[in-house]
Amino acid sequence: MATKLQCSESIYDSYTMRFHRCSRSGSIERDGKHYCKRHDPVAIAEKRKAKKEKDDQKWNANCAKWRLDGAAPKLLAACKSAASLLRRLGGTNHDPEYTELLEAIAEAEGKK
Ligand SMILES: [Zn+2]
Repeated sequence: MATKLQCSESIYDSYTMRFHRCSRSGSIERDGKHYCKRHDPVAIAEKRKAKKEKDDQKWNANCAKWRLDGAAPKLLAACKSAASLLRRLGGTNHDPEYTELLEAIAEAEGKK
């Protein structure tokens, strides 16, 4: 008769302020120790890695947004200069690029 192996993980109980052994079945063996699915160190490492990658992506997206936010005043000023130049060169509301530029400026200034 095979004996049922218990998970090796120690769990801290904040109510009793003591550690106790996980009561689940240790169906996964890692380096001679048995773990339940919840405490499998390999699965935990994979979950942490996936979370870190997701957090890194979010951080990088935020950095890009903050960079763009920081550059926005200069970009708006540059767009206004470009619109002024295009107007002097004969740009009209029939030119899609000129219209697009004017719309972007209006949106940035909250006039749209
Ligand atoms: Zn466990």
